[in-house]
Amino acid sequence: MAETVTLMPYDEALERFEPVLGLETHVELGTASKMFCGCPTTFGAPPNTHVCPICLALPGSLPVANVKAIESTIRIGLALNCSIAEWCRFARKNYFYPDMPKNYQISQYDEPLCTDGYLDVQVEGKTVRVEIERVHLEEDTGKSTHVGGATGRIQGADYSIVDYNRAGIPLVEIVTKPVEGTDRLAPEVAKAYVTELRELLRSLGVSDVRMEEGSLRCDVNVSLMPRGSSTWGTRTETKNVNSLRSVERSVRGEIERQAAILADGGRIIQETRHFHEDTGATTSGRSKEEAQDYRYFPEPDLVPIAPDPAWVATLKAELPELPSVRRARIQAEWGVSDLDMAAMHNADAIELVEATVAAGAPAADARKWWMGELARRANEAGTALADLPITPGDVAKVTELVASGALNDKLARQVLEGVLAGEGAPEAVVEKRGLRIVNDEGELSAIIDQVLAGNADAADKVRSGKIAAVGALVGGVMKASRGKADAGRARELILEKLGVEG
Ligand code: ADP
Ligand code: MG
Ligand code: ZN
Repeated sequence: MAETVTLMPYDEALERFEPVLGLETHVELGTASKMFCGCPTTFGAPPNTHVCPICLALPGSLPVANVKAIESTIRIGLALNCSIAEWCRFARKNYFYPDMPKNYQISQYDEPLCTDGYLDVQVEGKTVRVEIERVHLEEDTGKSTHVGGATGRIQGADYSIVDYNRAGIPLVEIVTKPVEGTDRLAPEVAKAYVTELRELLRSLGVSDVRMEEGSLRCDVNVSLMPRGSSTWGTRTETKNVNSLRSVERSVRGEIERQAAILADGGRIIQETRHFHEDTGATTSGRSKEEAQDYRYFPEPDLVPIAPDPAWVATLKAELPELPSVRRARIQAEWGVSDLDMAAMHNADAIELVEATVAAGAPAADARKWWMGELARRANEAGTALADLPITPGDVAKVTELVASGALNDKLARQVLEGVLAGEGAPEAVVEKRGLRIVNDEGELSAIIDQVLAGNADAADKVRSGKIAAVGALVGGVMKASRGKADAGRARELILEKLGVEG
């Protein structure tokens, strides 16, 4: 069923309406075993090999909570400045879903483990505090694959198959309070929040937070209210937005779509929507107008969770340095401006630069290559910096070759190109492509003689005191050496040969 979508240009939409955001993030914990049984959690195993009577919900099986998952959830809550419940329970959420063997999900309802926290994010030099409503623990579902049909969706498929390897993997849900006052920055705030949250989770070591593999999944809620109003509008919930860029695009697109409907006198239907990576548009999913009755009740097969306050205090004391604190420290160490730091953060380059520095490069050089040539190449290739086929060690080697005078910047760029093209490590590329700077004085001298002979006019000008004309001669030497001459040394030698003091 095709849906006609009219959009209002973003700027106009923002003149007339104020967006309110809400983000629900699901994180698969990286525990060794599942939430309520001993099955392994590793990704990519053959279908239905990581299953047992408990996660397949065979009659008579009983769950036992994974203490490591509870510990991870508490650590997430603490890092998000939440209060930790001294006593809370799991709840049964009843609904039928083919990839959920029990036909209910063990989750948490009115007694979440962590409540009332916040995460500060930086957008355009401003700090925006995103308040956290709750952090709770539940179990993941299995994964359905719809075979046949063009879209991979259930509609039009010939049959569907289910893999229960994922069923029962501990899943933490982090829900924000409604975020108001972000105005035209709403898409950026949403993206910055997920980015910051992902870094925080990574620093805690609780999940591999891979959006592409689904270990970090985000549902994006958006509503609009007319300017001047303080009553929130009806929200839509865009499900499973699986890249940071898509988080931003889905908010923007939803603002444009809802604004067009509201301006036309229409009303927003409370529903879930699906985001399409290719077009950046969302399409309608399931209506939420009639709230589903999940018939929640306390899970009778599990004892309550009552974390000892002393244990919680220890977990708090042992939290690692959090990303925002770490960034402030690194910024001071490297002596970079707020703007440069923000650029590196946005490009996801901080860890790469850090690793390059650890491999021996000066911070300024490491930053220059990652944020310059390599960022440009990643952009061209449409990949993340970290996914370029080059290591921080390679980049450190290139900076070392430049520092030692073996390469200039132009040759260094060719070396990087070679490494990216799979020609080997930097030194191998230098050898294969013959990129080393000509610093053999005899060879350089011969090239200079040749250039002077072919450019008598420029040579005369320099002799008669017009030193600026030396630039053309140096250029000639660089050209004749195909960029491999040391330009500074060439200049010195030219002036020497022409009998002029530099
Ligand atoms: P559901 O179970 O329907 O997904 P949740 O309470 O889990 O509901 O999550 C709803 C999310 O939407 C929360 O982040 C909440 O802060 C946010 N939210 C609630 N009302 C609005 C609104 N009017 N506009 C935007 N976001 C909202
Ligand atoms: Mg929800
Ligand atoms: Zn199992």
